[in-house]
Amino acid sequence: MRLFDTLSRTERELTPSDGSTFRFYCCGPTVYGPAHIGNFRTFVLQDVLRRTLETAGTRTLHVRNLTDVDDKTIRDSQAAGQTLTAFTTRWTEKFHTDCEKLGLLPPHIEPSAVEHIPQQIAMIQTLFVKGNAYASDDGSVYFKISSFPGYGHLSRLDERELDLGKTQNARSSSDEYEKDSLSDFVLWKARRPEDGENFWPSPWGEGRPGWHLECSAMIQEYLGDSFDLHSGGVDLVFPHHENEIAQSECACGGHFAAHWFHLAHLLVDGGKMSKSIGNLYTLDDLAAKGHTTMEVRYVLIGAHYRKPLNFTLDSLTGAREALAKLTKGARQLAAKSESGTVLTSVGFGPFQAAWDSLTNDLNTPGALGGIFTGLREASQLTGLEAATALAGLNRILRALGLTLPEESLDVIEIPESIKALAETRWAARLAKNWAESDTLRAELAAQGWLMKDGKTSYTLESAGD
Ligand code: AMP
Ligand code: ZN
Repeated sequence: MRLFDTLSRTERELTPSDGSTFRFYCCGPTVYGPAHIGNFRTFVLQDVLRRTLETAGTRTLHVRNLTDVDDKTIRDSQAAGQTLTAFTTRWTEKFHTDCEKLGLLPPHIEPSAVEHIPQQIAMIQTLFVKGNAYASDDGSVYFKISSFPGYGHLSRLDERELDLGKTQNARSSSDEYEKDSLSDFVLWKARRPEDGENFWPSPWGEGRPGWHLECSAMIQEYLGDSFDLHSGGVDLVFPHHENEIAQSECACGGHFAAHWFHLAHLLVDGGKMSKSIGNLYTLDDLAAKGHTTMEVRYVLIGAHYRKPLNFTLDSLTGAREALAKLTKGARQLAAKSESGTVLTSVGFGPFQAAWDSLTNDLNTPGALGGIFTGLREASQLTGLEAATALAGLNRILRALGLTLPEESLDVIEIPESIKALAETRWAARLAKNWAESDTLRAELAAQGWLMKDGKTSYTLESAGD
């Protein structure tokens, strides 16, 4: 399988360096709220990469961390009046539920930052010994970027006319900072009053690790000094991944990741997703509008990972139609397949082009197109040929993580939250509580559901239909 590599800017063959297992790491979620569909674009495509490798017969070792201590988790746990652990556990569970609904394979190892504080402290000590770290007056520790000549290669800092020489005395203590503020970054943050109870002892005093450090420490723990592939959304190229390379290559001495897989962002209606604009969607938001998670998954894999994906609610309707067409085609093929045939073929039949798209830089839209072309060709087949084609189709669907519904796709699932809202409104109406009844009907309408009253019962219709 070939995949574009951000560092060399070329497409390269993916092969396990140890000759047997493809070992890769994905920066995981910051567990301070529900993940949005942008996050899921990244996680779903990482999942398709893993599934494609496995379908091709390669064993994988998938490590994805949980960021459960950083500026945001601490800030929001305090605002919620909860301990950091209680707060991040709740959002980790929510993340797992969403992942399962979306058909994401759980990573083989899912380490949490809080559970790896000693490893992070040990890495800072190594960086001290090697002359890459220094302490500031307040007990914080920084990485000195001018001590690492390779700094900036991944994100091509030289092409952005940012000069390492100008970084003297520039320091950043926050976990995230802008592209143009090239600076020494924090490895250990001295305890501040606003951190509350969230601090740990260290040789430099009480404090907590900086965000960039956790991935380097956990990668060393579970994948060693060098491994096959590292991945995250494109926003992580700088500074996060640049800083990971600096920490790891200085501390471990090796060549960190052999391959860098970065995912372009998901946009909504052509722009950035943001809570304040009101266009930030979670899986629950889309379920409340009557959309299945498979429709969401279909949309997320509908664009090539190197191009931004423009998400619209209309694209979910398109996905519903495409999945219905796909289901119909698969059923027809199954009906014509010779039953009881033992398939020894491992080929893809008319779906070979779809498979080739996947293994050629993970071209998921190409694979989806190839499936429909394959179905048209397969409509001529019968017996053993049809059975072989069906087996090929199933393997591609598994690689894409698409499961087709058993029931007709025309049936729209009404989300539980909508059902509950409708029940409450019906009770209000029976109690002649007209004001509440009207408010709840408007609430349902705002969420895309039309409630029509009969004499003794009501119906719910998706307003989009
Ligand atoms: P976070 O939970 O913010 O740490 O992000 C988890 C993952 O989602 C990271 O790999 C991010 O780069 C990625 N990500 C964040 N926003 C988007 C977006 N709009 N589109 C695609 N990936 C994103
Ligand atoms: Zn990371």
